[in-house]
Amino acid sequence: MARILVVEDEPDIALGLQLDLRDEGHEVEVAGDGELALVRAREPGWDLIVLDVMLPLKDGFEVCRDLRRAKIRTPVLMLTARAQEAEKVMGLDMGADDYITKPFSPRELRARVRALLRRAAPDDEPLRRFGDCEVDLARAELRRNGSRTDLTAIELKMLQMFLRSQGRVLSRAQVVDEVWGHDVFVTDRVVDTHVVKLRRKVEPDPGAPRHIVSVRGLGYRFEA
Ligand code: CA
Repeated sequence: MARILVVEDEPDIALGLQLDLRDEGHEVEVAGDGELALVRAREPGWDLIVLDVMLPLKDGFEVCRDLRRAKIRTPVLMLTARAQEAEKVMGLDMGADDYITKPFSPRELRARVRALLRRAAPDDEPLRRFGDCEVDLARAELRRNGSRTDLTAIELKMLQMFLRSQGRVLSRAQVVDEVWGHDVFVTDRVVDTHVVKLRRKVEPDPGAPRHIVSVRGLGYRFEA
């Protein structure tokens, strides 16, 4: 099965995670603080990192950001505290792939882990092309005119959503559901800001977009 690094300082929770994931047949190791997590995460061969936010020495957001800066793309499942919406949004902004809110059931955890491992499987992530862009979903990378640009987790999710729904108008609320999830509050302005950033990466002329088109009063429509 998979090799999973669990980063959690509370021994009971770490042990619970370890047992649940081992039950699924995964190989699991635990790191108890943010500094150690960064060291261990750089070792090759991990399929997934389960990363708590509240950690000694370096919090989960910093760990995630540092990993992505170091071009380490191992999927990250973030463990956030209950009802802290800002944490979820921030985790995804820092490059986490998904989050799960504490307390969670073993069943919920296993479902999220399975989904992330499936998503990361190379066969599910082909190259997608539109205009003069080539998107490598597995590497979260955009290639255009011979140069490469990294996509943030949000930009990647947004682009995947647009590619899935070509030619259809998506409201900002639909974008939020697809990109951030149903239980997160994100303002329209935040959506627009991320669209602007994505346009800068994919549009030949970001001021006159032809791929991510604004539909007045409704939302956005993607044209390949
Ligand atoms: Ca903790």
